[in-house]
Amino acid sequence: AAQLAHAQSLFAVTPDFPEPGVLFQDISPVLADPTALRTIAEGLVAPFDGTFDMVAGIEARGFTLAGMIAALTGTGFMPIRKAGKLPAPAGRVEYTLEYGTAVIEAPDVLKPEHRVLIVDDVLATGGTLAATRELIGQLDCRVAGAAVVLEIEALGGRRLCGEVHALFTS
Ligand code: 5GP
Repeated sequence: AAQLAHAQSLFAVTPDFPEPGVLFQDISPVLADPTALRTIAEGLVAPFDGTFDMVAGIEARGFTLAGMIAALTGTGFMPIRKAGKLPAPAGRVEYTLEYGTAVIEAPDVLKPEHRVLIVDDVLATGGTLAATRELIGQLDCRVAGAAVVLEIEALGGRRLCGEVHALFTS
């Protein structure tokens, strides 16, 4: 518990970034701290150990966390990418943002037997996570669960994205 509190204390909070009114939570100092890095990797995976064989990391900070978890648990890693980064995406989902829309895409690496754990740094409105669930379903795979380091509770993301394991809430 002391180690979790230490990790949470390292988030760098910046008002009005990337736009006015947004209180941005930057996980960089958490990742830079060796003890906190291990603590959050182990904390994210704890409820799901043995229930998944692929870890999907959401661009961009989810990549780091998902890669670490995959290596720790002997599972595979796949990136969930923003539109236009993959030469031959196997699936794509368009979803609504506060202003406009966004598209995420997945590479062609999933097999039907894969059980996928979705990982990201921050849960905000939940739109990205909900779209990622839809994308994995579109590829005929099962979602074993979803884990984020920090949930910004006031934005009500859970209503949109369903069950999620959040290490910290703010
Ligand atoms: P959503 O609103 O769809 O839940 O969040 C969209 C994406 O933006 C997620 O991948 C999430 O990691 C990122 N995001 C939203 N707000 C923040 C924030 O305050 N800090 C960080 N690091 N990422 C954020």
